[in-house]
Amino acid sequence: MKNFSNYKDFSTKENLHFESKAVHGALGTEPITGAVSMPIFQSVTFRHPELGNSTGFDYSRLENPTRQELERTMAILEGGIKGFAFSSGQAANMSVYSLLNVGDHIIMSDDIYGGTHRIVNDVFGKYGIEHTSVDLADLDAVKAAIKPNTKMIFIETPTNPVMKVADIAELSKIAKSIGALTVVDNTFLTPYFQKPLSLGADIVTHSSTKYLGGHNDTISGIVVVKDNEEIVNKIKVHMKSHGSQLAPMDSWLLLRGIKTLHLRMERHNENAYKVAHWLRTQQKVKKVYYVGFEDHRDYAVTKKQTTGFGGMISFTVDSFETVKKILKNVDMVMFAESLGGTETLITYPTTQTHEDTPKHLKEELGITDCFLRLSVGIENVDDIIADLDRAINS
Ligand SMILES: *Cc1c(COP(=O)(O)O)cnc(C)c1O
Repeated sequence: MKNFSNYKDFSTKENLHFESKAVHGALGTEPITGAVSMPIFQSVTFRHPELGNSTGFDYSRLENPTRQELERTMAILEGGIKGFAFSSGQAANMSVYSLLNVGDHIIMSDDIYGGTHRIVNDVFGKYGIEHTSVDLADLDAVKAAIKPNTKMIFIETPTNPVMKVADIAELSKIAKSIGALTVVDNTFLTPYFQKPLSLGADIVTHSSTKYLGGHNDTISGIVVVKDNEEIVNKIKVHMKSHGSQLAPMDSWLLLRGIKTLHLRMERHNENAYKVAHWLRTQQKVKKVYYVGFEDHRDYAVTKKQTTGFGGMISFTVDSFETVKKILKNVDMVMFAESLGGTETLITYPTTQTHEDTPKHLKEELGITDCFLRLSVGIENVDDIIADLDRAINS
């Protein structure tokens, strides 16, 4: 039998393009059988041949072959030394915040996923970890927010849901100059459009529930560490202790999703571009938040650090009555939380994804009762626009 054990390992694939890496992953084939689809290793534990001898797999909370293939694939795609696959995006972000110690201070995006506010306010706040929310596009405001105990800048870009863009390279420089870590939640653009580690960030996180999985069928999270072994070990201990690792079946679903990431992202990008421009022509639509508009405040930074705009749009309408009408009348487009899947979803952030964002921040950001968020799917764009047209205008 041909020996597959070293077959197309990590090192032979470095020269491949992103798309090929996404399809072929780290090992790609399973070493013993040559299976082209990495099997779901639904096993808790692994048999040892003798004392002091292990296959490298002992117990699935620590390492599992399917999860390991996913983690190595994500490390390759983001350009880091180590990936971790968690049971949710929340669990992934929790592991990163756990790197901080009592008395540390975080600077983070003022506009950010609501659950991240819950982490810093409800969970870490009580351990004496402070945070300051600032518009990270304003570098002077970031510098002014620095304290002697600032240990992390946590960036979401584009932000959820008002689509602000932060300059990852500039923020990483500021963080390095004060010995703080730069973390980027790369959920919205994925490494296909944005590679934070190559721009200077230390850690990338994902809610892989969204674009990486891409099919609205599994909840999961990813962390990739650029080059710091000490951080790798801390996150390893965190996962091992919290037991927040991703299950084999979900790891496989994610591996399958990632194989088409580039194709899906291209279509999300193309569709969202058309939908955003169409929305702007609608009388009942008051403001459209979309990073692909040339007159977007942060367009220059977007062009500098990303290769695509992604599939996310937010918009406001003329009244709460119109909001209710839209959410009731959409047909193919579904009124549901979440984003990044094949299906177009419309969300009401004020009471859904951003329920836990402090009220004053929501007001400042314009997340009002007339605010809607759209995750543009990969359906035919004419169908998406026709459905929105009917829901908004009939
Ligand atoms: C959804 C989301 C999260 C939380 O991820 P879950 O997988 O739902 O736990 C974190 N950050 C961003 C930007 C998100 O959109």
